[in-house]
Amino acid sequence: MISLQNKIILITGASSGIGTACARIFAEAGAKLILAARRWELLQQLRDVLKQEFKAEVHLLQLDVRDRVAVESAISNLPDAWSEIDILINNAGLSRGLDKLHEGSFQDWEEMIDTNIKGLLYLTRYVVPGMVKRDRGHIVNLGSIAGHQTYPSGNVYCATKAAVKAISEGLKQDLLGTAIRVTSVDPGMVETEFSNVRFHGDDERAKKVYQGVKPLTPEDIADVIFFCTTRSPHVNINEVILMPVDQA
Ligand code: NDP
Repeated sequence: MISLQNKIILITGASSGIGTACARIFAEAGAKLILAARRWELLQQLRDVLKQEFKAEVHLLQLDVRDRVAVESAISNLPDAWSEIDILINNAGLSRGLDKLHEGSFQDWEEMIDTNIKGLLYLTRYVVPGMVKRDRGHIVNLGSIAGHQTYPSGNVYCATKAAVKAISEGLKQDLLGTAIRVTSVDPGMVETEFSNVRFHGDDERAKKVYQGVKPLTPEDIADVIFFCTTRSPHVNINEVILMPVDQA
């Protein structure tokens, strides 16, 4: 197992769910964290907790990953002490609606495509050149079981996660010959704000999603990401699918 002490880890979507759980596990391991999301207060609260509990060094970025210019500026203006990113966790993502394709909302589609695909591409495009120059690094993309199995009315969200799978595979190919690793972590149901965001704050509808299933926790996903990023440098875990035991 390699040490993450003082490694610089950028986590997008750190204000909630899987991103927050990753921040905690990596802070505990002594990593230095760049935490990105739009909700500034949540990021500040998380930074204070991580400092108090783990004496973690944390740098915050208020960032909308859909804004290419903002992503470029955030990465190119990182203070020197934070600029050499060792691990990029492309976790920011969302689902909106659960509608038949021919009845879907254009706004929902654009939000999913812009966040899950284009946002992930922007971060990757601006962070990876530095990794190539240093010939070290690891990119972890949050895909989903939805990228492998399309469920009824899942159409566009499933397509974005199938795209994440293709992007992860493509990036792995493009980085052959370097020491940089690429991993796609593809969970089934995880209990986070995800379903609430999907149904635009409709709690009751959100809760129904988990009926009959004991969902994964954000910590289950963070554990797997921690495992993938701490293997010996010659080991690349390409893809992990993890599911609740009772999810089909
Ligand atoms: P949450 O809703 O709890 O967290 C999503 C995070 O993404 C938030 O921190 C949110 O921050 C951030 N985010 C969303 N849009 C943007 C944006 N435009 N710019 C920057 N940050 C953004 O969901 P999860 O933790 O469950 O989801 C994390 C990832 O895991 C997603 O990619 C999701 O698709 C994937 N996943 C989730 C599953 C589940 O069942 N929960 C299953 C499989 C995969 P903020 O709003 O502050 O910007």
